Amino acid sequence: MADKKKLLILPGDGIGPEVMRQVKRIIDWLDRKRGITFDVQEGLVGGISIDHHGVPLTDATLEMAKNVDAILLGAVGGPKWDGVAFEQRPEAGLLGLRKELGLFANLRPAVVFDALVESSTLKADVIRGLNILIVRELTGGVYFGEPRGIETLPDGSRRGVNTQVYTTAEIHRVARVAFELARKRQNKVCSVEKANVMESGLLWRQEVTALRDAEFPDVELSHMYADNCAMQLLKNPRQFDVIVTDNLFGDILSDEAAMITGSLGMLPSASLGLADAQGVRKAMYEPVHGSAPDIAGRDLANPIATLLSFAMALRYSFDHTTEADLIESAVKSVLNSGTRTADIMAPGMARCSTTVMGDSIVRSLDKLAV
Ligand code: NAD
Repeated sequence: MADKKKLLILPGDGIGPEVMRQVKRIIDWLDRKRGITFDVQEGLVGGISIDHHGVPLTDATLEMAKNVDAILLGAVGGPKWDGVAFEQRPEAGLLGLRKELGLFANLRPAVVFDALVESSTLKADVIRGLNILIVRELTGGVYFGEPRGIETLPDGSRRGVNTQVYTTAEIHRVARVAFELARKRQNKVCSVEKANVMESGLLWRQEVTALRDAEFPDVELSHMYADNCAMQLLKNPRQFDVIVTDNLFGDILSDEAAMITGSLGMLPSASLGLADAQGVRKAMYEPVHGSAPDIAGRDLANPIATLLSFAMALRYSFDHTTEADLIESAVKSVLNSGTRTADIMAPGMARCSTTVMGDSIVRSLDKLAV
């Protein structure tokens, strides 16, 4: 029998442990009902790691993270740790993991569930059936480019500098992720930059095109300026399948696309690194939301973003596409039945707790899997 795949669970702070508890029930369900068993390890990250070990990410946790097939993280942070030094704050644990694992591609799906189509600020007709994936470059570009800083000029005024910089290798590795993912979807990639006014954007466009021609001739590629993309996401978001873009534009466009779908409690994400000799990429999956200290510990949080993050792990790291589809279908069916946590509550629906949402999804899985 093949070795069990290794999954590291890092619940973190605030609502992290509560939503992760529901994921553990799904992991248990997969074991009992589908014969899919993971070697699950668990560790501390963020504020809770500061409380136990004085640092947001210990060497031991990092070592575990480096030796698993995927990591599933809840959320980190909260007012309890507001006073700790900047480099030791809970979020530094998350950034440390991303950096040490070389997670350069951030995947943010924006999917509109029929049952929640009215939660968006956009018209239902524009967004019904929306399913797009934004692939954002995460470790390069203007957030990291040198030179950077603030300097005082001879006349006493000041100058702030950041540098937008990309190399062929950085562009190719993130574009390759986008092309590979497009092949599992609608086979369409839209590459987004500002090639009209930025040399780095022109290089981005040329290199993405070269890579497509060399390795992905079957994938349809289009190009769009970032400002136009921001408009098109609001005007006609369904024209897109996979969008690939740099760190800065991706930061903005992925938040814009996410908000088209309605609630923060519904949004999963993944961050991927380089593939090893067997083609397996380092990967960390996490909900987009934070630790929600305002509702933590009260069984109110929506666990769906974290459950869908686990479904992404099944799809992209564990090759269990059928089970990923099953979880997504179970979520859809529970939403269609009118069961809602407070954040996605609507008139006429039944309000439920985190635990009851988990119960409902497990029951739905039972029904769907027969
Ligand atoms: P947040 O995402 O934690 O919360 C924003 C609002 O959305 C809150 O009202 C919260 O109750 C609600 N919300 C978030 N997730 C929800 C869910 N699953 N179900 C129901 N409601 C949900 O953002 P914030 O309040 O700006 O930050 C709180 C803490 O989380 C801060 O310490 C921040 O640094 C941290 N944070 C961590 C991450 C991460 O771990 N990836 C991301 C963002 C913020």
